[in-house]
Amino acid sequence: MHKWILIKGMILNPQSDKSCEFIKEGVLILKKGKDKYTIADYGRRSLINDYEKKRSLKVVDHSDSLIIPGLLDLHFHWVQKDVTSMPKDNLLKWLENFTWPTEANFKDKKYCNSEAKEFSYELIRNGTLGGACYGSIHSHSVDAAFKYFKGDYFVGNVLMTMNSPEYLIQTQKQAKTLLDKLSAKYKKNYVVTPRFAPTTDEEVMRHGSKVQKKCKGLIQSHLCETKNEIDWVLSIYRERKGFEDVTSYSDIYHRCGLLGEKTIMGHGIYLSKEDMQLLKKTNTAIAHCPTSNAPVKDKGLGSGLFDFKQAEKNKLRWGLGSDIGAGPFVSMLDVMDSFVKQNKKIGNKAATYTKALYRSTLKNAEILGIDQNTGNFDLGKRANLVVLKPLKLSASIKTSEQALNEFFKAIKSREEFRQAVTEVFYEGQVIS
Ligand SMILES: [Zn+2]
Repeated sequence: MHKWILIKGMILNPQSDKSCEFIKEGVLILKKGKDKYTIADYGRRSLINDYEKKRSLKVVDHSDSLIIPGLLDLHFHWVQKDVTSMPKDNLLKWLENFTWPTEANFKDKKYCNSEAKEFSYELIRNGTLGGACYGSIHSHSVDAAFKYFKGDYFVGNVLMTMNSPEYLIQTQKQAKTLLDKLSAKYKKNYVVTPRFAPTTDEEVMRHGSKVQKKCKGLIQSHLCETKNEIDWVLSIYRERKGFEDVTSYSDIYHRCGLLGEKTIMGHGIYLSKEDMQLLKKTNTAIAHCPTSNAPVKDKGLGSGLFDFKQAEKNKLRWGLGSDIGAGPFVSMLDVMDSFVKQNKKIGNKAATYTKALYRSTLKNAEILGIDQNTGNFDLGKRANLVVLKPLKLSASIKTSEQALNEFFKAIKSREEFRQAVTEVFYEGQVIS
């Protein structure tokens, strides 16, 4: 292996919602450490002079391609790949008719392993190098993800102890045993994952809170995705001891000790004032999944559009996720495009591609707690990067927003995003 790798390309280095360095004729310099490469330097083409005489230097030419940091997906169900193309109607019906029967298949370990292998390939193919992920209720769905996925993944088995079909339900004891066992095994990479409050009882959720404090991992669940779901969850809990006076969906999780800065709640489309206050107070993050929430004609569940402006006004942390299989594609590029297009349609100009890229890389790294090591090209971070398909940019293109606009304009169908990734480097090694 070479000590140094020099990659020529058009570099995009996200910093915030509004700022992303764009170096059109750029170079990235990777340096090999003990077993992986880190970002040693980056800048304009003239930087080559400083490195070209280095012994053991490999030069890779992607001059015509945009190079972005490895993408991070803040919310996806790896066991739902086969549901992506099944008919969608609304959340609760879709869970019952398609998702739960599909997840039940993962009981079979062999099947589970071969699906994980395939899914891992899909993630890499689409430039995704980490994220927060849901398995099925089966412990081997967590084992298989950790075994096959390449990148910074945080994975949990969904907990389902009530209001679930007979073929996909656990006793409290089974759920608690799995929480203990898997959190001890995977420590901070384990995610306590109540599917959502309607299907996970309060005792198991409280146990999850304790387990998370011990292993210092993450917590993930779903919150306020549709109005029906909110009515349903409140009607369930108001009949349960200790929750009679509950007034918001978030408060149910809060009373079980599940909200906090290590918690990622999926969706949050219909947050009440009280929800918003609780999330703010506890510094809970939201995973916004625009392709999953999109209208049914756009292959989503038609749940609505997350109001990120409102969330930001309330200082909520949020990032983007694919929500496979309610989201139809693994590609975070597709998610970014959907975020921008859906928001522009309602006149929301703050939804830029620069913002979408930041919320699919550095911001997600921050929420996952890995931004010291990944999320952008700051010096010393691990060399995780995605080379996009070649693009001719005219001399007038000078900003990250213009460059990203050109890239997305050149994609003619959503299926094309998968082919829009030409090469993926993980810790400096090509894995695509
Ligand atoms: Zn989900």
